[in-house]
Amino acid sequence: MNRADKGEILADIESQLEGAESLSLETIAREIMQIGFRCRRCGDCCQGEENSVAVFPFEIRAIMAETGDSWLETAGPPEEGEWDCEGNFHTLEWRLRKTGRDCKYYSEKGCRIYGVSPLLCKTYPFYLDEGRLRWSECRGLGGEIGTEDSLILAELLKRRQIVEIREAIDLVREYEEFERGEPSPFGRCVVHDSHGVREIGWSEIPGALGRRLRLSRGR
Ligand code: SF4
Repeated sequence: MNRADKGEILADIESQLEGAESLSLETIAREIMQIGFRCRRCGDCCQGEENSVAVFPFEIRAIMAETGDSWLETAGPPEEGEWDCEGNFHTLEWRLRKTGRDCKYYSEKGCRIYGVSPLLCKTYPFYLDEGRLRWSECRGLGGEIGTEDSLILAELLKRRQIVEIREAIDLVREYEEFERGEPSPFGRCVVHDSHGVREIGWSEIPGALGRRLRLSRGR
């Protein structure tokens, strides 16, 4: 991403912020009520291979304060990324840690960090796509939801959309371009987020993700 590209991308994302800030809570809430939703506490959204929760730096800090976990015990880099010419693996943003196939904060009694859970979890199965209400697969869809709860959900969705746009703006501002290269056994994992860059040694990435990344280095 060169300086001109960066300017264009930033202008595009910034133009989305105004739209997000002017979203009507009442309209979103009305749509939610029409679709219907009642959480069945099935835990489906917290479990399984496909489960991957994007989490922002301020959310990671809130979870760390609640649990006493370190940054890397709370979140890790996603597996998608690119290699630079020095053999470092670059990724964008963070994902909540998993234990096996499930979110590490999921228990049979439910979410262990409910009060500080990421906005993505609080608003599941709904999300806003350029202001339009969308939803993912969920057993709770079609359930009965009252006016007050739908307004609370609408407020969280709007907040999430604004946060996602602001985080994207900061990410692009902080992003430093690099020359692409091949996988190497000697590099580090470099995570780009809204605060800049964090470098992680391979041995510091625990669990299945670390193993997969270590394997991919040798490909
Ligand atoms: S943080 Fe809580 S709600 Fe979110 S995936 Fe983990 S257990 Fe589920």
